Formats: sequence, C-alpha cells, structure tokens
Amino acid sequence: MNILAIGPHPDDIECYIGGTLALYALAGHKITNACITNGCMGSMEHSPAETVRIREKEARAAASVIGAEVIWADLEDASLVSDIKTRNIFIDVIRAAEPDVIICPSPDDYHPDHRACSVLTADAALLASVPLIKTGHPAAEATPYILYHDHPNGVAFEPEEYVDITRAMDTKLRMMSCHQSQIGWLKTQYDMDFAYSFETMARFRGLACGAAFAEGFRPDKSFPGSAPRRLLP
Ligand SMILES: [Zn+2]
Repeated sequence: MNILAIGPHPDDIECYIGGTLALYALAGHKITNACITNGCMGSMEHSPAETVRIREKEARAAASVIGAEVIWADLEDASLVSDIKTRNIFIDVIRAAEPDVIICPSPDDYHPDHRACSVLTADAALLASVPLIKTGHPAAEATPYILYHDHPNGVAFEPEEYVDITRAMDTKLRMMSCHQSQIGWLKTQYDMDFAYSFETMARFRGLACGAAFAEGFRPDKSFPGSAPRRLLP
C-alpha cells in the first residue's frame, strides 16, 4: 500500500505515529511524510528562516530512518486555515502520494494547525478524485481511507484501533531524536519532556491493548463505506 502521513508540523509524524509507520515500512509498504507547515514558529533562539532550515533537515533525517519520502509543503506555521487555496494544496499532496491510507490529526485536536490539517485532509481526500479540480498532479483514482491519530498525552481521545509498536519502539525514539531543535522548545514553551511524554503515552496505550507499547487510532467514518476495514499493521 501507499501510506501518507500528514503532519501539520515537522515533528508530529514521528511523535504520534512513528511506530506504526516503522511497521508499515518493515512490511514493505511505501511511506510518504507530508510536512504541511514549515515549523517556522518553533524556536526561542533562532529566526523563523533559520528555524525552517533546521526543521526541514530534521524532518528529512527522521523520514530517512524508515525510508519515507518527504513532501515539504512549506506553509507558514501557526497560520493553517481551511480555505480553497490551501485545500487545493492538500489535494495536490494527496494526488502526488496516491495513498491507500492517510493518517493525520483528529478534528478535535488541541492545536489550531492540527485541527485545520484534519479538516483539510478529510475534505481534500474526498475531492482529490474529482478530475475537473486542476492541480499539479492528475486526479486520484480512489478515495483513500483516513485514520486519525492520538492527541497529546492521550487527552480526550478514545482509540478504536491500536497498533502494537513494541518491536518498533526503538525506531520511533530514533526518529523522534532527529528533532533535536524541539526538545528545548517544547520544554520552554509547554514544560513538556519530549521523549518522556511520547514514550509514556505509548506505554499507556499499550496497557489498554495488552502490549508493551502501542499507538491508538480512530477511523474517519464520514465517507460512505469506509468504516469497517482494518488497514493498520
Ligand atoms: Zn504539531
């Protein structure tokens, strides 16, 4: 399958679904990481331009751990909104990756960029197959299956599917460690210990499903006929 991970910020993909992506990669599926915003606001010490340069390098290094391709959409951090221009960018990202499965944040996530990313993804996934909507790539042949990933610390998110990521946990942590610039930023801005938070969350989700470590998901059910399939590893 073609798997498209859509991350509103350059580090989201590894933090929320790094283990699941590593398992998809191990099973021979093709992974594309779409980094939607460039993360330009995620620093206390660097200029926006310098922060983008650092974060793109980090995101590409993290993707290379599992051989994922990167689409760097380069939209501005903290400014993502659902409008037609941005939706057409999402449509083009989906057409470029030709996904069977898309994984993205949920529509009730805590962060405005995450919520906008979620809505844009679901709307664009539905419209990507409409030929008269013209973007840089031809119309998609099918409507992909969408899965929403967990919220930070699992707050207000009830998974309906779990992936046992125990054998991919080392890889997930290695991918996360590529985002060195975010360790200090998250500590200063949100008093958040990056590795500790996501490792604890994976243990917590693991407890719920009988694994040492897990990631939780909810399928999007808005598209007719899309609900009952299991396409996770
Ligand atoms: Zn984010």
